[in-house]
Amino acid sequence: MFDVNKIREDFPILNRKVNGKPLVYLDNAATSQTPQQVIDVIVDYYQNYNANIHRGVHALSQEATDKYEEARIKIQKHFNAARAHEIIFTSGTTHSINIVANGFSSLIKNGDEVLVSAMEHHSNIVPWQMLCERTGGILKVIPMNREGELLMDEYDRLLSDKTKLVFCNHISNALGTINPIEEIIEKAHQVGAAVLIDGAQAAPHIVADMQALDVDFYTISAHKVCGPTGAGMLFGKEEWLNKLPPYQGGGEMIAEVTFEKTTYADLPHKFEAGTPNICGGIAFGAALDYMNSIGFDEIAKYEHELLEYASQKLLEIDKLKIYGTAKNKTSVISFNIDGAHPYDIGSILDKLGIAVRTGHHCAQPIMDFFKIPGTVRASFCFYNTKEEVDVLVEGIKRAKNMLL
Ligand SMILES: *Cc1c(COP(=O)(O)O)cnc(C)c1O
Repeated sequence: MFDVNKIREDFPILNRKVNGKPLVYLDNAATSQTPQQVIDVIVDYYQNYNANIHRGVHALSQEATDKYEEARIKIQKHFNAARAHEIIFTSGTTHSINIVANGFSSLIKNGDEVLVSAMEHHSNIVPWQMLCERTGGILKVIPMNREGELLMDEYDRLLSDKTKLVFCNHISNALGTINPIEEIIEKAHQVGAAVLIDGAQAAPHIVADMQALDVDFYTISAHKVCGPTGAGMLFGKEEWLNKLPPYQGGGEMIAEVTFEKTTYADLPHKFEAGTPNICGGIAFGAALDYMNSIGFDEIAKYEHELLEYASQKLLEIDKLKIYGTAKNKTSVISFNIDGAHPYDIGSILDKLGIAVRTGHHCAQPIMDFFKIPGTVRASFCFYNTKEEVDVLVEGIKRAKNMLL
């Protein structure tokens, strides 16, 4: 049975006050909070077996290596990747995407085409622009409609034998849209293009199956699934990871080094130069354990209820407009109040203890599309409650009275 009050007890931070008011944390699309179970794993690491991995003969190094590699296997199983070495530990989605964008420098030729969706996070736009600048590749954009849904007919038209790569997020962090990635992947493969799906915003809500999707690359940040910052994953199909050159040189990623020539280590170490975020990787695995103990079906069902409840309550507020009304969306609500600046609304909500995000949400092209400077974004997690939605609604009404 899903019991939100019991779940909230796992999150010590939810007990704190902000500006004298109980914290109402609705910025989960930026980062999620960390349960005690994951905090305990982090403390245990530093109290009991902190050591460098993969090279020590001593006990602590062995323990740390075992736990780190166990975490890799947990992550592999969670995302149903065929092989553990297809899971590369990274510092997060941005790092993961840069590994791939850098790797494609030698594979993209002048005039090759690279497609991105119109609703990407900057971290899934800028590395590809840099790639195109280096290679003479051409960046093209899959457009979207006013609801925040990709125009799949336009996607069909853009695909050709010139298309080498397609990049799209699984779920938009600014609009909440769940994109039809199965269709995007299948159609890209029909023209021989590789596909990277940015799963940063999807991972807290749905479990993506690497083998069923047949995706080439998939990226995650641990801090959006109740894990720590500075840890994440790049999934890559073995054949692609073998084809791409390493991103960084250093220790751990080599087989043999002489001053004449270095040969690289096998996967996954080829992409894991230097001492990694060992504790972060282990805690990432623990965070997935925690979320699985609640159950992703239960999470999805409850968050959908919250989304419906919040959308309905917010739309009862006069002059409030929601951006991103796709039929298939997750618990993210971007909105504005006619005549009020999003930043001013966010500041008043903060005084009331309510944490929301304001601005362009690292997705400026979306804001340009709607011809707005930004939005207020409330994003809900499975530990949020309907009572918190009510507090938000009252807060917005108060902000509106003060500002208009
Ligand atoms: C958060 C997010 C990113 C960036 O993740 P980092 O952890 O900052 O690297 C990229 N894409 C989407 C859709 C996101 O939500």
